[in-house]
Amino acid sequence: MNWEQPGDGPGDESNSDSTSESGWDYDRLVDIAQRHGTPVHVLDTARLDRATEHLYDVFGGLGRPARAYYSVKTNYLPYLLRRLTGHGMGADVVSGYELEAALAAGFDPADIVFNGPVKTDAELAAAARHGVRVNIDGEQEIAALESIAARAGLTVEVGIRISPGVPVSTSSDPSYRAQAERAAARNRFGWPAGSPQLAGLVEEIAGSPHLSLTAVHAHLSSQIVHQDLMLQALGRVLEEAAVLHRRFPLREVNIGGGFGVPGIRRPRTGPLTALWTGQGGAAPAQDDEPVMEVARLLPELDKLMQSVGLEGVTLACEPGRWLVSDAMAMMTQVMSRKELPEARWLILDGGNNVAPWAGSGEIHRLTPVGRKFSDRRITWSVAGPLCYENDVHATAMELPADLRPGDLLCLHDTGAYSLGRSNNFIRTRAGIVAVDGDQEELVWRAETGADVFALADPAVPGAQPGAS
Ligand SMILES: *Cc1c(COP(=O)(O)O)cnc(C)c1O
Repeated sequence: MNWEQPGDGPGDESNSDSTSESGWDYDRLVDIAQRHGTPVHVLDTARLDRATEHLYDVFGGLGRPARAYYSVKTNYLPYLLRRLTGHGMGADVVSGYELEAALAAGFDPADIVFNGPVKTDAELAAAARHGVRVNIDGEQEIAALESIAARAGLTVEVGIRISPGVPVSTSSDPSYRAQAERAAARNRFGWPAGSPQLAGLVEEIAGSPHLSLTAVHAHLSSQIVHQDLMLQALGRVLEEAAVLHRRFPLREVNIGGGFGVPGIRRPRTGPLTALWTGQGGAAPAQDDEPVMEVARLLPELDKLMQSVGLEGVTLACEPGRWLVSDAMAMMTQVMSRKELPEARWLILDGGNNVAPWAGSGEIHRLTPVGRKFSDRRITWSVAGPLCYENDVHATAMELPADLRPGDLLCLHDTGAYSLGRSNNFIRTRAGIVAVDGDQEELVWRAETGADVFALADPAVPGAQPGAS
């Protein structure tokens, strides 16, 4: 893939200036990498603040109250959570420990929603105790929460998760579209708008004296870039919400997150293309990837809500990736360069364990930094350090021909789904350095082998949490 790298094109003085069009100060990133070692993530709070402010600007232009619940699972870094509470942001949590992290970071329980397909009785009881609203996504949650609320003498506000049943992504490959349609119809999160199952559950909530249905919730998937499909899908949810609103005055319609970011690219091909290329056929040209614009999406939803009869109802959303993706980047080092008759590999010290999308086909930009590189670009395959086949960042990426061990690369867009999904298969997890103007702070230290074995029972001698 020929990934366009602004400012780094052929003939350009590659990375000779310290600030790129990506906005990252590469000299500073190199300095952090040299002092902390690689791989290391860097969080730039100014980038996070900019995204948050943009969202609130969009909210300010809507004809109704609007609010955001940050998706804690996207990046649960306590430093980041604390930073977001300062913006009047709420939190979307999907497990008990996320709820604890959100409360510890200072989110007001009234600004937290509890989502997810599984909520244990203990988690439901904690939510009820704190006054956290629960979006029902399992039949059994209704009776469990009713009995918890009845025992405590409380009324618990609940929402219900609705799915539109239609896909929010598309491709010129018909086999991709067929797959996406089937997956949307079978989606296990929420209940389909208009389905008898949904109607039955609404009756059950209505018959639960200690539950009060005040919200409709949806969350369609992640990295959605096809804005029109998202609007069509959410239109179905809004119509269902309008029907419910006539019977149960709703406080809010929560459309979830999933807003796509421009910095990453997901494969949009299906089994037909896989079959074709697997037989040696040339890979088809990639579709142009649309760009999701929250500044267009939310006003459209505002209008749709008005037109279906949801006046005065709050428009809520749960951005995760869109807020944090490009607020973090990861510095990694070339460890090995391998020229084979059929391939040229660059092997980095950061792979799937610290950038867990590696191997999924999702491509993030890689920018060589720290010295002047050759203008000649060649096609590299880029892998991480792990001893398993899928630890691959890209099978074909245009990068300078003279990359060699010791060179540093900046992997962009590591703010979403890195920390929480990282793992210590073969190599330990990376630390995170936060920069805030001139300030710099290590806000998550790198994991050590001792951390890994600290969970063993009997304890492994010398393995103490926190030992480095
Ligand atoms: C994961 C998740 C989100 C955030 O998704 P992004 O793609 O990161 O915006 C929001 N709401 C719910 C219920 C989720 O599970």
